[in-house]
Amino acid sequence: MRYVPAENRYEKMVYRYCGRSGLRLPVVSLGLWHNFGDDTPHTLKREICQAAFDNGITHFDLANNYGPPAGSAETAFGEILRTDFAGYRDELIISSKAGYDMWPGPYGEWGSRKYLISSCDQSLKRMGLDYVDIFYSHRFDPNTPLEETMGALDQIVRSGKALYAGISSYNSERTRQAVKILNKLGTPCLIHQPSYNMLNRWVESDGLLDTLEEEGVGSIAFTPLAQGILTKKYLNGIPEGSRATQGKSLFESMLTDSALNSVRALNEMAEARGQTLAQMALAWVLRGGRVTTALIGASKPSQVLDCAGVVSNLDFTDDELKRIDEIAKE
Ligand code: NDP
Repeated sequence: MRYVPAENRYEKMVYRYCGRSGLRLPVVSLGLWHNFGDDTPHTLKREICQAAFDNGITHFDLANNYGPPAGSAETAFGEILRTDFAGYRDELIISSKAGYDMWPGPYGEWGSRKYLISSCDQSLKRMGLDYVDIFYSHRFDPNTPLEETMGALDQIVRSGKALYAGISSYNSERTRQAVKILNKLGTPCLIHQPSYNMLNRWVESDGLLDTLEEEGVGSIAFTPLAQGILTKKYLNGIPEGSRATQGKSLFESMLTDSALNSVRALNEMAEARGQTLAQMALAWVLRGGRVTTALIGASKPSQVLDCAGVVSNLDFTDDELKRIDEIAKE
């Protein structure tokens, strides 16, 4: 059946400016790392993307290697762009990245100009796009001059293959260097994509969030739900089909008694606030406005709906924030 987006899709979602740019992103974005490979039925992928767009989630995040196999998430999303989102390209912010292992030989990973530019071309082909909105260096390459990696991003933007440049998982010091080089080249760094959630706060201790604020760079926090740990799904065992059963990136060993005790206490707090734990975890990442958007993943449309509902309560009292800090440290 032909998909028609919900007419009221922009009524509830909140949009924030990405750093000192003119681009606004929804406070919840959808990532296609898991559940968009060949091991997931295509109908489900379509339903997840449709649920996102219907609820004002305009930003879809991909990378060359998302699958399995690598590349298949971009191919699936390209199909969805043709069947469901045709005619809506200008309402979408689509990103891709290069940095991790993608093809054999010395030019298939890391940060050389050769790899980044060829990989961007491949991503565009898989998605059937003329350009992506954001193209990222997926990880810092210690063996390639940063000038070369940033020069490749600049060239990708100048040649019209991407509208903006971004970096992912660079620490604070390298971010400062990258931002400086990009500014000099005339292609400012739009956005940084780090991991961040209540249980993983390296962006605070490393000073990255301060750096981004000073430099006017936006940020998109990945794994804001700690891959599902910061929801109530693991409180009574490991549900069938959940990410922890798939042996890919979330392992049973990460669901320790102490982590689950913290999650139980956080879940009680969320209930007292009148929201789900997933919503509270997203609101926490977004508190104070330094993180532009929380980048979630989803295995079903209902999860997207739940996460989009974060906009109904984004505020915390000082006491709540203190209590979250205490629980997360336990
Ligand atoms: P999350 O922390 O949001 O985890 C997503 C998982 O949480 C889902 O697959 C689902 O688990 C569960 N979940 C989501 N919403 C709910 C809900 N409302 N209620 C209950 N469970 C829920 O993020 P991801 O780990 O998926 O990462 C998000 C995105 O970040 C990726 O798709 C990718 O775009 C990006 N990313 C970037 C990286 C980088 O290096 N730049 C690295 C990793 C991710 P289940 O499947 O068990 O149902």
